[in-house]
Amino acid sequence: QRVGYAIVGLGHLSLDELLPAFGESKKSKVVALVSGSPEKMRKVAQQYGVKPESCYSYQDYDKLKDNKEVQVIYIVLPNSMHAEYTIRGAQAGKHILCEKPMANSVQECQAMIDACKKADRKLMVAYRIQYEPNNRMIRQMVQDQKYGTVKFIEAVNNQNSANPQHWRHIKALAGGGALPDIGLYCLNTIRYLLGEEPTEVFAYQYSTPGDPRFREVEELMSWQMKFPSGVYASCATHYGVHEARRYRVYGERGWMELSPAFSYKGIQMQTSHAEGKIERVEQPKLTEKNQFATEMDHFSECIMQNKQPFTPGEEGLQDQRIMEAIYQSAKEGKPVKLPEIKTKDTFR
Ligand code: NAD
Repeated sequence: QRVGYAIVGLGHLSLDELLPAFGESKKSKVVALVSGSPEKMRKVAQQYGVKPESCYSYQDYDKLKDNKEVQVIYIVLPNSMHAEYTIRGAQAGKHILCEKPMANSVQECQAMIDACKKADRKLMVAYRIQYEPNNRMIRQMVQDQKYGTVKFIEAVNNQNSANPQHWRHIKALAGGGALPDIGLYCLNTIRYLLGEEPTEVFAYQYSTPGDPRFREVEELMSWQMKFPSGVYASCATHYGVHEARRYRVYGERGWMELSPAFSYKGIQMQTSHAEGKIERVEQPKLTEKNQFATEMDHFSECIMQNKQPFTPGEEGLQDQRIMEAIYQSAKEGKPVKLPEIKTKDTFR
């Protein structure tokens, strides 16, 4: 038994990752498509066995309501469209899986949560890293204090983005630059590893003058986060340097690293700890799983068993709150405090 998905937006992520991932999923199937390009959609539908009558234009989006095969709408559109399509999707009676970043403002995130609650539909943000085995193992090691108390984390997510015309470089569509697109992985993953929320951020932002890619959105965001347990995290994200996606977690007696940490494939772990006078370095190898299939199957299981997803809308809302504090800090040149949220794993 599989849950039926409608994929909304046939861009890179949908075509290169999500649609192929259905082939590796156990509980999810693609049953409908929504696109502004009829010709492209016809070919994709043929390739993945989607019926012609289950292919919709954006104008016909609300007609998904009448398609009984569709239980989940997966929103894979530019960030500024996530809120509208989530709200309309919930109103059409469908559960929503929404790509990250959840939206472009705290208000939009809240409206999405409210709309799904009102319609009694589930909402999950597609934070694939929280379903990935290496990241899950590091989280367990952090929480078991395998190398003592964790005190410091450094994280980086960088890429050299090429096309200044792309929506990712237009603030109204993307919401920001490197931070909401890729820096978000550092932020969300550190919160996930620690199971607690930062109480203060301090940030610095920079864009190369005259570079057409960064007329509207930031090239670099570098920020620090303080957590109630005393952990201090130092993060950076850059849109104009060669790809690097890694983090290292430092405990009293050892460290744990993933490099790459946030890629679709090939995530690699390295740990180092002292054994007497010897420094033991290890590279544990875990069986690789398709991250997108794992994530979709989690949501499908939540629907079949009526469970709360591990990364619900509140998770995206909290990231958005913190990102807004990061922008505020970079603008004002001083630390910004966040409200203290006491419980660990607040949203789960
Ligand atoms: P993309 O540009 O390749 O695709 C976007 C799609 O939206 C295109 O098919 C485009 O035609 C369509 N679209 C509809 N209205 C549009 C408009 N007004 N302007 C521009 N495009 C419009 O982008 P993508 O890389 O597939 O990203 C889509 C979403 O997925 C984003 O929210 C992004 O952050 C997210 N994403 C997540 C991951 C992940 O690992 N979870 C990876 C990549 C992208």
